[in-house]
Amino acid sequence: MFDELDREVFAAGEQIFKEGDAGDCAYLIEKGAVEVIVAEQGAERVIRLMGKGEMFGEVALIDHQPRTATVRAVDKAVLIPIRRRLVEGLMEKGDPILSHLLLVILERFRNNHGSDPVTVASTTDTPDISSRRKALKGEATQKLSLAHEIMRALAHDEFELYYQPICDLTDGRTAGFEALLRWHHPADGVMLPKDFLWLAEQTGLIRDLGLWALERACRDWPTLRRQTSSEFPFVSVNLSPNQLTSESLVDDFKTIIARHNMPATELKLELTETVIVEHPEIALQILNRLIELGSGLALDDFGTGHSGLAHLQRYPISTLKIDRAFIERMLGSAQSMEIVRSSIGLAHSLGMNVVAEGVETEAVREKLLELGCDFGQGWHFGMPAALADFGLVRAEI
Ligand code: C2E
Ligand code: CA
Ligand code: CA
Repeated sequence: MFDELDREVFAAGEQIFKEGDAGDCAYLIEKGAVEVIVAEQGAERVIRLMGKGEMFGEVALIDHQPRTATVRAVDKAVLIPIRRRLVEGLMEKGDPILSHLLLVILERFRNNHGSDPVTVASTTDTPDISSRRKALKGEATQKLSLAHEIMRALAHDEFELYYQPICDLTDGRTAGFEALLRWHHPADGVMLPKDFLWLAEQTGLIRDLGLWALERACRDWPTLRRQTSSEFPFVSVNLSPNQLTSESLVDDFKTIIARHNMPATELKLELTETVIVEHPEIALQILNRLIELGSGLALDDFGTGHSGLAHLQRYPISTLKIDRAFIERMLGSAQSMEIVRSSIGLAHSLGMNVVAEGVETEAVREKLLELGCDFGQGWHFGMPAALADFGLVRAEI
């Protein structure tokens, strides 16, 4: 099982690591023995002897804390280092809540072995560190329970998509819709993405949630489509950075749209530049494969990142969505106005169309039209609404 991993050999008496070192791996003892030592009032005390098959150093590996003891080889020791990189890779492939589970187990373990320096930091921890640990524990437990709830909510169909119209600025006609997630939480009522997406993203649950959203948007599309007289209507679905690094994304995508007979040309995918900046080559490959199927790509929240449009030129982006922050401030800030104006100009020169996000008033709509912007999305045109409420909520101008 460990054949493909490296070995490290230590001579008798050689130090493997010392208390306070930054640790990024655990060690499995393949041969030999090691002793675990702590410093007490200036003197060393051996507190444990460990041999073949035993593991040490795992705590620092899991929670990034410094080494809590010194470990030395007693006789020649052959050790298999298990590095953080490897564990993270394994955790990514495994159950998405595994890393949180590990953290919680670790904290319980720390509490039960409060005085064991092999597994916990020294008992001379400052109050600051120990209160940070307590806070961490609370946080990890909360995260774990929220992650469980998200999984349960998926199984119990508690999520819903709301749709918000994206309108032609010239005549206010609905050109398409953006699908936005809502969670009907049994105790807390309707929850917004900001309350749970961050954790779904961190744990990888967003992959399932993202596919669920795609599936639901395709399922709803025949009904939603009837709400607009546009010649080329579309529904936009948000793609998270985590989804874009999933190897199966393109195949999952194909399977879902085929299952619902969804015309790929009527589906748009929205993504932010984060993923492009973090994984430029993977993103290029996957995005090219997605648009080969006929779907369009929209760059979301434009202006909030750091890369600038010129940098993103080689990506097959057809729509630029200017972030709400600039649109909101535009009428009162010459700088925001300039950012909006130049983004529209640049996008057009690259053959992209432009959506302004967060259009809340008629004055903003007029200004955007004057600046040559193509589409608007925001409360002025309609709030996001459940499919069932749609006709009631949407207010076309
Ligand atoms: P976003 O993609 O930028 O979506 C637009 C957000 O702006 C939505 O917030 C929408 O309700 C809000 N909004 C629209 N018009 C106005 C307006 O005129 N004024 C103001 N103040 N706000 C407006 P929401 O629905 O809370 O979604 C927040 C974010 O969560 C989205 O931002 C998107 O990044 C993410 N999200 C939502 N659904 C999904 C999903 O299915 N998958 C993924 N990966 N992310 C999603
Ligand atoms: Ca979006
Ligand atoms: Ca946006």
